[in-house]
Amino acid sequence: MRAGLRSLVIAAALLAAASASAALRVVATTTDLAALTTAVGGDLVIVESIVPAGIDAEAFESRPGDLDKLRQADLVVRIGLGYDFWLDALVVRVGNKRIMRGGDAYVDASAGIPLLEIRGQGVVNEGGHAHGVGNPHYWLDPEYAIIITASIAEALVRRAPEHRDRIVANRERFLAELRTRLQKWSEALAPYAGATFIAYHNSWPYFARRFRLNVVGYIEPKEGVAPSPAHLARLISLARTSQVKAILHEPYEPEETSRFMAQKLGVPMLKLAISVGSMPDARDYLALFDYNVATVANALRARNP
Ligand SMILES: [Zn+2]
Repeated sequence: MRAGLRSLVIAAALLAAASASAALRVVATTTDLAALTTAVGGDLVIVESIVPAGIDAEAFESRPGDLDKLRQADLVVRIGLGYDFWLDALVVRVGNKRIMRGGDAYVDASAGIPLLEIRGQGVVNEGGHAHGVGNPHYWLDPEYAIIITASIAEALVRRAPEHRDRIVANRERFLAELRTRLQKWSEALAPYAGATFIAYHNSWPYFARRFRLNVVGYIEPKEGVAPSPAHLARLISLARTSQVKAILHEPYEPEETSRFMAQKLGVPMLKLAISVGSMPDARDYLALFDYNVATVANALRARNP
């Protein structure tokens, strides 16, 4: 290699290394927060999630590699409300105060979210599964991405103030696309306003409220608890009187009971994406709603052509 060319190659390699190290390393607890952080941070961030796609975050057990991710993190983004309760023990082990509650590199994305199913302040979810102070599945209302991305953008600007304009522009571009799609999603589901459903887990109150759907009962009598035959019998009678149109099923829950219920009631079982990557078509945050809205709308259209 000629000397000139070689120095050019070395210079390019150094430049690449410099820009890679300049990127902020963000660790999000879930794939949804990772997707939203990528939307806001663009190429300024390298984002990883702790819970892999399609795994139940409420029943998650951390692995040794998770500590390594957190040791290198410039920013940590979590769902909060006890949903990713296991994060606290991990950050204590890492010992970096900046990524702990109150630190400048810590984002609890539930801040500022108007919660549903609020319970007393004394309720703390320490065991996963059971919902704590409020229903934690708030990312399933696409309009709440406005609040979530505001928290993420603020934290990114705090860590990299020199990139403020790019972060703000990325977020605005994402929100413009979100608003366009929200219009389409609302139109697609508008004919089915008030349609009733049974869900496996209580994952859908935010999604249902946004699109005027009505989840009237759950196969789990309590979050994380398997149903008894008596519970299912009551549920079947409730489903019949409220003319349930479909069973909503989270991909990581056991399918047997949802299938049984669907057969018993003569309605479809719809596997919806509860998080980015939990169904193959839910590749990013917007695609998750494209998929869920189309799945519900197609099933209801087939029943009421
Ligand atoms: Zn839950």
